[in-house]
Amino acid sequence: MATRCIDILLFLLPLSVAALTKCSGEQSDQYDDELSRLASEWYSSSERSDQYSDRLSQLTACLATAGVDNFTYPSADPTEAAASSFYQLLNFSIQNLRFAPGPAALPAAVVLPATQLHLRSAVLCSREAGYSVRLRSGGHSYEGLSYSASAPFVVVDLMRLNRVIVDSASRTAWVESGATLGETYHGISAASDDLAFSAGSCPTVGSGGHIAGGGFGLLSRKYGLAADNVLDAVLIDADGQIMNRDAMGEDVFWAIRGGGGGAWGAVYAWKLRLLPVPSRVAAFIINRPGSTPRIAQLFHKWQLVAPNLPDEFYLSAFVGAGLPESGEVGGMSATFKGFYLGPASEALSIMTQTFPELQLADSDCHQMSWIESVVFFSGLPEGSTVSDLKNRFLIDKKSFKAKSDYVRVPIPESDLISILNQLLVEPKAYLIMDPYGGAMDRIPSDHLPFPHRSGNLYAIQYLIEWQTNADENNQNYIEWMRKFYEFMADKVSDNPRAAYINYVDLDLGTNGWTIEDEPAIDRMANVKSWGESYFLGNYERLVRAKTKVDPDNVFHNPQSILPSNQINGYLA
Ligand SMILES: Cc1cc2nc3c(=O)[nH]c(=O)nc-3n(C[C@H](O)[C@H](O)[C@H](O)COP(=O)(O)OP(=O)(O)OC[C@H]3O[C@@H](n4cnc5c(N)ncnc54)[C@H](O)[C@@H]3O)c2cc1C
Repeated sequence: MATRCIDILLFLLPLSVAALTKCSGEQSDQYDDELSRLASEWYSSSERSDQYSDRLSQLTACLATAGVDNFTYPSADPTEAAASSFYQLLNFSIQNLRFAPGPAALPAAVVLPATQLHLRSAVLCSREAGYSVRLRSGGHSYEGLSYSASAPFVVVDLMRLNRVIVDSASRTAWVESGATLGETYHGISAASDDLAFSAGSCPTVGSGGHIAGGGFGLLSRKYGLAADNVLDAVLIDADGQIMNRDAMGEDVFWAIRGGGGGAWGAVYAWKLRLLPVPSRVAAFIINRPGSTPRIAQLFHKWQLVAPNLPDEFYLSAFVGAGLPESGEVGGMSATFKGFYLGPASEALSIMTQTFPELQLADSDCHQMSWIESVVFFSGLPEGSTVSDLKNRFLIDKKSFKAKSDYVRVPIPESDLISILNQLLVEPKAYLIMDPYGGAMDRIPSDHLPFPHRSGNLYAIQYLIEWQTNADENNQNYIEWMRKFYEFMADKVSDNPRAAYINYVDLDLGTNGWTIEDEPAIDRMANVKSWGESYFLGNYERLVRAKTKVDPDNVFHNPQSILPSNQINGYLA
């Protein structure tokens, strides 16, 4: 695929300018065409007159009065539609092309606050003008929840709130919630060679959504989740109150660290505990192709080994019939990603003793600094450097559907063979297994809303990806995924079947709060169906926190915790 890189200078309405680097391939050209089509449809639709109603004028006047000068809304000139700053900014952080906007789903405006007070004004002005707010940090919500809504809404994009201020002496950092993980890691490494943070590998994921849902990564077996390492936060509620940990109280501070984004208020910034790492770490990514029984054997051994390795070791597994690492050859294979907080020689020796079937060679195992290992696992193109971690644009965007499960009892080898046979039928799908154990086992399940701790061997993510939303098989892929999920039911945790909120999946059920005549009792059943999958026994405390901090449910999405009064007085 040909790739081009262009610098776009975005003139934001009405005044300011932001420079962004965009790297895109052919699929993005198709995407731009699709956008032009959608844009012209939108201009000829009745939506437009609504969008230019008093409501929008009220919003823009309120923002201007508050000194918020970075916002943009659809241009009145249809010939400029797709090239306008509105579209450029809206699309910049749409990370799942399945949710590329249709005419009915466009936000009225995109606002880019640059300060804490701008963020507060963006929330208050949107609310006063009658718009729902969609906060967007990295834009990686699996269901597009940060840039879509069924009612008129405003996207408050946090990309300009991306400062990372490190205090090496106290081993802490304040990170604005629009900073991506890449920007966060870059900021930490610029200040210190021996401090790190525990969070996910993808550099364009936003700290806003990631930490709000927990945040698992290569250091989690040693230090827990990203959310386990948040010491304080600044939250702006629906009335514009700016609260730190003391002011918001322990229930709310607990809820915002894992209870899911978009539900409590706008997190302006997180105070992180930074974590010590040695000067050299070890890292490897190896792909093992083979017959289905051979890969099932490796997978089976992996699930016995990975959750029981020393806390310093992280070994994840990917399996599928079309993994990128299998290259031209394709076919069934497994990829193992290994990271060790220590020298390569030790990593090699641990693998040789515990997992000889992997046949890890000396030459597979590389030694580097922690920040170099972040680049190594980032998925950025070969030759990328530490400063590339700051690039917010996701290369090679796709459409995808994902689901998750937890495994508490190893899956028998015969079942693994059946699973792999399903993947042979659909090579666009694959499984990602993240090992738990270590610190994850020792943190109590009610410490934070994220409950999947002791006894979980690993999390599985099922993922199917395809190139564009225009693909006629779009719905077929989603249906395949739903059937595969059903097929997995008797092989994974149940009662309730568990899921990870950061792999948000609307198939688990929604609030249904837009359905006017839905009986309250059904609503509670709906809400509990997804709420207990994500939060198990922590659901009730989340409802309590929500009732306290946002009783009018101003911050909502189809799977956000509801206040008690909207679920039939759940706590009464
Ligand atoms: C390629 C890829 C790799 C991933 N890797 C990992 C991984 O290794 N580990 C892991 O745990 N997860 C991983 N994830 C999942 C990721 O953690 C979630 O998708 C996360 O919610 C994305 O956060 P975001 O800020 O990028 O998304 P957004 O879409 O911007 O936000 C997600 C949700 O949080 C809300 N939100 C965002 N910012 C704020 C804020 N400041 N205040 C309040 N609410 C806010 C949004 O409204 C939305 O509801 C990965 C996802 C992808 C696509």
